[in-house]
Amino acid sequence: MSVVVAHCRAGFEPEAAADLAAVAAAAGTTVEVDAPPGRGYVVATPRTFDAQRWPRALDAAPPVFVRSLFFGTGPHALFADDTAARGRPDRVAPLAALLAAFRRDCRQPGIGVRHRAAAVFGELRMETADTNDGKELSGLCRRLELPLAGELLADGALAEHDDADTPTVLPALHVLFAHGAEVCIGVSAPPWGSRWAMGIPRLRMPRGAPSRSTLKLAEAIQAFLGDQAGDLLRGGMKAVDLGAAPGGWTWQLVQRGLRVTAVDNGPLKGEVAEDPLVTHLRVDGLTYVPRRPVDWMVCDIVDQPSRIAALVARWIAEGHARGTIFNLKLPMKKRYDEMLRCRAIIDDALARSRLRHRLQLRQLYHDREEVTGIVLRTG
Ligand code: SAM
Repeated sequence: MSVVVAHCRAGFEPEAAADLAAVAAAAGTTVEVDAPPGRGYVVATPRTFDAQRWPRALDAAPPVFVRSLFFGTGPHALFADDTAARGRPDRVAPLAALLAAFRRDCRQPGIGVRHRAAAVFGELRMETADTNDGKELSGLCRRLELPLAGELLADGALAEHDDADTPTVLPALHVLFAHGAEVCIGVSAPPWGSRWAMGIPRLRMPRGAPSRSTLKLAEAIQAFLGDQAGDLLRGGMKAVDLGAAPGGWTWQLVQRGLRVTAVDNGPLKGEVAEDPLVTHLRVDGLTYVPRRPVDWMVCDIVDQPSRIAALVARWIAEGHARGTIFNLKLPMKKRYDEMLRCRAIIDDALARSRLRHRLQLRQLYHDREEVTGIVLRTG
């Protein structure tokens, strides 16, 4: 492995680079990061790469502005010279050769690939940057996917989905097109690898939800709670939604059967406004506290991020809620520093209260100049 490749929101390359520098420090090394502004992904070259230490470092210093990452090699030119890349040259053969060499390179236990003669992958992810330039390459990716997957299957590199002996969670093989003649290739595996190609969940705007913000909470639930979502957010629980109007987040909670106090001076719209599980309070969300503790507090109030960080810390520390999902708006220039400041506010407040907790911040696919966070009491 010679590079770590990370997808991010276009424009957030410096923040993704800072994330990777922090992970590298946790892995006991340093990185040089190629992060041109607006490209939508960054390529970090670590001074040393230890396949055991990097996954642990990702757990110790989880990146915030990275949507998805893989360990790999590249960038690789697919053709010896530029002229060969014109028209529709055969890309499958040079790609298959690159991947075959890579398979031998990635028989390392730390990255989810067990000791075998050569690695077996659970899926092939053909990727581009999530930018306009990237979208122009998506047709090429689609055209190449089937023949390349055919080659990998014939080689035994890709698991047959109906193979009962194959562990269900196998690493993913990534092919990221920088342009039509250049790729980075690599591997990712749970828990540090994204469950979605390019870190982009395929979520449809649900009919009946009053705002597109609903997708932010839907993604946060999947990204942070994963398979535990059904247990941790279920019928009979109580939630408070601060800054609820027009009701997209409340709608998500009600769909899961939670009883919701929706706090906002603005009106709720659509079916949530009439839902018997919803109580709408026109009061200040920054000072409201429930009379009895609730299971969840969610907050999408547009305000200074440090004020929201202090608010969510207070709710958990004072026992008003057991868990919270919240959004921190980061319209300022020094947004990485601001994110660190907010994280410290929450961690410090909960450490003072001696509360064991899990705090995670992530810029989700549906987040713009903002990050979404979760705090859950543990133990
Ligand atoms: N999550 C909502 C949804 O999915 O539809 C969208 C929330 S919107 C981004 C922010 C909301 O916060 C606005 O409706 C605004 O009225 C509300 N807000 C701002 N300051 C507030 C405060 N101090 N207390 C309660 N609500 C507030």
